[in-house]
Amino acid sequence: MGGPGSGNWIRSKQKIPVSQCLSIDIREFTASIHRCISGEFQWRNAIGLDISSVSYSLLPETKTLPLLILSYYRCGQIQNEIIEFTKSTLFSRGTRWWFICPACKKRVGKLYLPARTLLFACRACHNLTHRKQQKKSSITWFII
Ligand SMILES: [Zn+2]
Repeated sequence: MGGPGSGNWIRSKQKIPVSQCLSIDIREFTASIHRCISGEFQWRNAIGLDISSVSYSLLPETKTLPLLILSYYRCGQIQNEIIEFTKSTLFSRGTRWWFICPACKKRVGKLYLPARTLLFACRACHNLTHRKQQKKSSITWFII
């Protein structure tokens, strides 16, 4: 797995807006966290063309916390990435689920894949900003 200091980790020196990245959100998985599910995320541009897709399989909590296995084509090769989950207990005694960033191991709600990078990681690891640099993003994403 890639992390800061590993060979395939690319950190941009210039801050990239999160709106220019592919992203996955923990909220997409919390309703299904106890089931084994698989599917595909597809991101499309403003005119509906597929620009990228990521296949996923969610392995539910058994003896370990759930795992998300991602598979996608990136920079000329198939990437397989395993995302670990963790959870925290809310005051209401509910459970909040988090991804564990593969690079820094911090718990986060979203993971991002900027252009020309190989691995999903958190906003801090990819040096991303929420600041809007563009007039309008042309990337929107859908769950198929
Ligand atoms: Zn991170």
